[in-house]
Amino acid sequence: MRKVSVVECRTYDEKEVLKAVEKAIEDIGFEIKPCSKVLLKPNVLMGASPEKAITTNPAVIDAVCAILVKKKCRIIIGESCGIVKEGGVLQAFEEAGITQIAKKRNAKLISFSHEKLRKVSNAKAAFAKEMYLPEILFNADLIISLPKMKTHTLMLYTGGVKNLFGCILGGKKQEYHAIAKKKEEFASLLLDIWMNVKPALTILDGIQGMDGNGPTNGNIVKPGIIMASDNAVAMDIVAERIIGFEGEVLTNAIALKRKLISASEIEVIGKEPRFKFRKPSSAASGIPPWLSGFFLKKAMAYPYPNPEKCKRCWNCVRVCPVTAMKKTNEKDAPYCDKKLCIVCYCCHEMCPYDAIDLKRSFLFALPIKAYSRILSLIGKK
Ligand code: SF4
Ligand code: SF4
Repeated sequence: MRKVSVVECRTYDEKEVLKAVEKAIEDIGFEIKPCSKVLLKPNVLMGASPEKAITTNPAVIDAVCAILVKKKCRIIIGESCGIVKEGGVLQAFEEAGITQIAKKRNAKLISFSHEKLRKVSNAKAAFAKEMYLPEILFNADLIISLPKMKTHTLMLYTGGVKNLFGCILGGKKQEYHAIAKKKEEFASLLLDIWMNVKPALTILDGIQGMDGNGPTNGNIVKPGIIMASDNAVAMDIVAERIIGFEGEVLTNAIALKRKLISASEIEVIGKEPRFKFRKPSSAASGIPPWLSGFFLKKAMAYPYPNPEKCKRCWNCVRVCPVTAMKKTNEKDAPYCDKKLCIVCYCCHEMCPYDAIDLKRSFLFALPIKAYSRILSLIGKK
């Protein structure tokens, strides 16, 4: 059986979080071997203060470190966040309150971009049979993934599986977006990465999360839970039920289809609460499945930088994998060339000022809203 624990925790108070994380690990019967070299992979997709609920809260990282210190483990905290900039990861750690925790617990902070890479082949992969991953992932005795419970404009939800996309080096992320253009392809790629990294333990920070236009520009929500599992997909399948997206998260649906896991082998320990997370305004679940080709492309929500809110930082231009986000001059806000855009929403995700609106064309916006409403009234969504 794949055990998934759900433990209530309503605060980031140090003692409470430690108690909840200890219980979550104990409930699934996970043993941490003393003196192990442990790599922690939090979700630090950009530099943001913990109150914004974009990154894994430092209190959760601290609790995990406290448990590891007791076991005399060596701790490394690694990430490769979305902005490709020298020193960007270490700065993001600082802003997310993680540098302080690393100092307190004598943990080493690393940017995966500075690590040697290993070519990994996997015949069972569905999308990327070969990929390059940081060597450190294979030198650690134990990998613990520490995702945050959030919605995601492209993948609908980000948790255990999606967090591992942060093991892919900065610029390579954009390349993958450009290759895996369809959502199904991107979801399959994420599962291939998970199969290669396979963290032995995943602990989800669901004390505070994000709904709506996550993972960076949504609303803060307070599910008040910590989840843990030795299988990130099992944990995500339980999490999608908890947030009210049952059957809608593509990575879960594809994992079940690829028989990477079976729903019957998942055992939940603890009480599963129920929430109704708001979906991102990009959610394709509002688009009728029979729309395809030309009409589907027209019905998608596209990014529109808002000139009033835009601070001209050009992050969106830098991260666009297909150079669809254009800068015309230093003064004007950028714009999206819809002919080139693959609707990956990287620009929206990496805009630090929530200055990018996601809008459908006028012709489709109302019918899609109405269709979505009818489905929810008849209980199909
Ligand atoms: S990332 Fe946001 S603030 Fe920066 S240029 Fe783009 S729209 Fe403007
Ligand atoms: S403009 Fe934005 S949504 Fe479109 S391809 Fe570029 S990053 Fe992706």
